[in-house]
Amino acid sequence: MSHPFASYVDARRDEIVETLRRVVEMESPSQEKARVDAVIDVFQAAYRDAGFVTRRIPQTDYGDHLVADLPGGGGPRVLLVGHADTVYPPGTLATMPLRRDGDRLLGPAVMDMKGGLVCMLYAIRALLVVRGAVRGSLRVVVNSDEEPGSPSSRGLWPELTQGVDWALICEPARPDGALVLSRKGCGIFRVRVRGQAAHAGAEPEKGASAIRALARKILDIEGLAAPSIGTTINTGVIRGGTHPYVVPEEAEAVIDIRVSTLAERDRVLAGMQAVAAREDVPRTQAVLEGQFHRPPSEPVPGTERLAVVIEEEGRALDVPIRWAPQTGGVGDANNITACGVPTVDGMGPVGGRAHSPEEYMEIPTLFQKTALLAAVLDRLVGREVLRRV
Ligand SMILES: [Zn+2]
Repeated sequence: MSHPFASYVDARRDEIVETLRRVVEMESPSQEKARVDAVIDVFQAAYRDAGFVTRRIPQTDYGDHLVADLPGGGGPRVLLVGHADTVYPPGTLATMPLRRDGDRLLGPAVMDMKGGLVCMLYAIRALLVVRGAVRGSLRVVVNSDEEPGSPSSRGLWPELTQGVDWALICEPARPDGALVLSRKGCGIFRVRVRGQAAHAGAEPEKGASAIRALARKILDIEGLAAPSIGTTINTGVIRGGTHPYVVPEEAEAVIDIRVSTLAERDRVLAGMQAVAAREDVPRTQAVLEGQFHRPPSEPVPGTERLAVVIEEEGRALDVPIRWAPQTGGVGDANNITACGVPTVDGMGPVGGRAHSPEEYMEIPTLFQKTALLAAVLDRLVGREVLRRV
């Protein structure tokens, strides 16, 4: 027996790939507002044509964020989320054009996450064609600053998730196809040390080495890591000093920290503050800047039910469903789960090598995941309704 959503998708395979080609060939690095806005324009028009009420949350430094609402029959409200920005600088297409290699499509952001945006759009179209109307409501949010950590959009989630029962994030699945229920939290911190400059030969005693102080602090901060429980710490950047013959007055380190739990977040934060406050070298002073911009996302009540629906629809469509162990990759799912909304991430197509010249997407998964998403939406707001409480 053919599956209505699989049939819908299969009949439009060429059109779906063509839509993906069109948006991959619109370069949209996070820092290029006009280019990201152009991708937002494409999806705004598409959702408007599908009957959604659309609005933009205007931005100055990043592309606008798109909010598209389909008010339905008063049932559950489902939030679908994607991002229009990419990590690839302008001109990348010249050396990394969209190309096909067997069952793979390669190109900038082909899976992370223009493939996911196309999945979302066609899943919704499939649902509306097959069912005619929805019995709940759908909200689509496409933001424009996910890659740099959602600086302008992360604060919007408490409002954008008002009344939302379920959230589905169409970031790519893991390379083995696994979906994601929980992600580590992430913070970027900067330790700045200020000391005293002096001639290193003539009067070194008048100096206070910021580099020496920073070196101690880096080792002690990295010592707070606890990889066995998921806490990792990476000093990714150091800067400091001016010349070999000058006692360095300034030094700084930029540190990436990932944690699995709120308790670990608090422990590491307290530890770093203590290390920063310590005067490791007399007459030096340090300041700690930064924050955990993505809280760790752990399943909330309701996540399990949503996962079961996805597994059931996966079986009906012959799409294997696996669940990833908590991943260190972070995204908007962290901030949405923090609002208490049951969230499943990785609803987009399967691929690999994100953020690299070899980024690829497995083409058959684009169709499978589109049909799966449509079928899951059908269970939540289509032929059935699933209320959270
Ligand atoms: Zn992404």
